[in-house]
Amino acid sequence: MQKDCKQVWENCLDFIKDNIFDKKLFDTWFKPLEPLMLEGDALTLKVPSMFFYEFIEANYIDVLSAAIRKELGHNAKLLYSVAMDKANNSNSVLPSNNIIATQNFAQNIPVNLDAQAKDLPNPFVIPGIRKVKVNSQLNENYSFENFVEGKCNQLARSAGYAVAQNPGKTAFNPLFIHGSVGLGKTHLLHAIGLETKKRFPEKTVLYISAEQFFQQFVDSTKNNTRNDFLQFYQMMIDVLIIDDIQFFANKTGTQEVFFQIFNSLHAANKQLIITSDKSPADLSGLEQRVISRLKWGLSADLQMPDAQTRIQIIERKLFKDGITMPRDVIEYLAYNINSSVRELEGALISLIARSSIAKQEITLDLAKDMIDKFVKSNTKEISIEYIQKVVCDYFKIPVETMLSKTRKGEIVAARHISMFLSRKHTQSSLATIGNKCGNKDHATVLHACRSVQNSCETDKEFRMNLEAIEKRITE
Ligand code: ADP
Ligand code: MG
Repeated sequence: MQKDCKQVWENCLDFIKDNIFDKKLFDTWFKPLEPLMLEGDALTLKVPSMFFYEFIEANYIDVLSAAIRKELGHNAKLLYSVAMDKANNSNSVLPSNNIIATQNFAQNIPVNLDAQAKDLPNPFVIPGIRKVKVNSQLNENYSFENFVEGKCNQLARSAGYAVAQNPGKTAFNPLFIHGSVGLGKTHLLHAIGLETKKRFPEKTVLYISAEQFFQQFVDSTKNNTRNDFLQFYQMMIDVLIIDDIQFFANKTGTQEVFFQIFNSLHAANKQLIITSDKSPADLSGLEQRVISRLKWGLSADLQMPDAQTRIQIIERKLFKDGITMPRDVIEYLAYNINSSVRELEGALISLIARSSIAKQEITLDLAKDMIDKFVKSNTKEISIEYIQKVVCDYFKIPVETMLSKTRKGEIVAARHISMFLSRKHTQSSLATIGNKCGNKDHATVLHACRSVQNSCETDKEFRMNLEAIEKRITE
């Protein structure tokens, strides 16, 4: 029996691994699970903590249920056994009342991963019968409330919000949002969709990835139902949200139907919202006429949030999950992970998971240890903001004061040292460094660097301070 149980779980893991895009996440969330027993079609998994259980239920239940159903059939059940906290009991044999959750997949979990595509509104509805209930495919977690506003996303966010208040009636049609991966495009799309539905419950909103759209189109061609497919989009949808349109590159048939659908929705004042990882000008593999449509409305980009916004993003997530974390750890994560919000979230989650598995408090040391392993070397480069933060911490002055126009001696010194170290440790140009150090020009930065060099040669205390700061930065 026990062997069967292990084998079943091994097979599940293989399936899950194939279906989780990010292998690091697979390692984090599935490796620590243990198959405890298999009774009939009920599999019991041991999870390291309550947090684990909640996280898996919230984020991975689809793929997990698909895997288990594949192994154990449609009536499969899943039970979790949660390892107890040390504080409560260190006994590793768990009484059965620790089994805290039962999922009957037959009732409330999608059958398999294809279900996502099949859950989609059936395009084969009879034209003329309006307001079939369409599944909007919106994720409640990706709301405006959970989307932190910053300079990095100001235009896209406010345009998106405006569109949701007045779909099809603003100049932003289509609203085209672009930016590289993990910067919040998908989140923003869902937020716009959710807000629209909140304001206008009668409107039919549909979020669809370009890939799903493509798949539907291919199916309709195969099944000879192209007209139904077209009519569904042209007649049923009030707000069409298509994610990652770069996927249409070199798919001429799909571009053709998209073009038709775009034209008829636009002409009927229906709202289109589209994202891509590139700006319209840089999109390759798309027909010119399609690109020209994308430029009709407003094109807004998403940038990587600055350090302050990254801190807020972390705080928002922690607040939402009811988790507290020392301020220095939050800042450490925010300053060190500057590749994408997704990476930032991934690091945060891994950190929480690690502390949960090890039943250890989240400390700066734990964070440093994890980040070293987590962050790829190219993203670990030192940023100007990080340097400023370390310098200001050292002199115990607020960063804002350093960035202000103050000419007070010690503030000027801190500013000069920040510029000097930014020049030494980042690839940034003098102009960029000046810009980020209180809007100074490149000549000021040069002057600051010379002045630091001079002080180093003549002032021993100054030199020691500088070395101490530099050590902190490069540690
Ligand atoms: P993209 O579609 O651009 O690749 P996502 O929308 O999937 O990026 O965002 C990646 C993760 O980062 C998501 O979990 C999202 O919630 C989060 N995220 C991105 N931007 C923000 C933001 N401004 N505020 C809060 N969370 C954000
Ligand atoms: Mg996305």
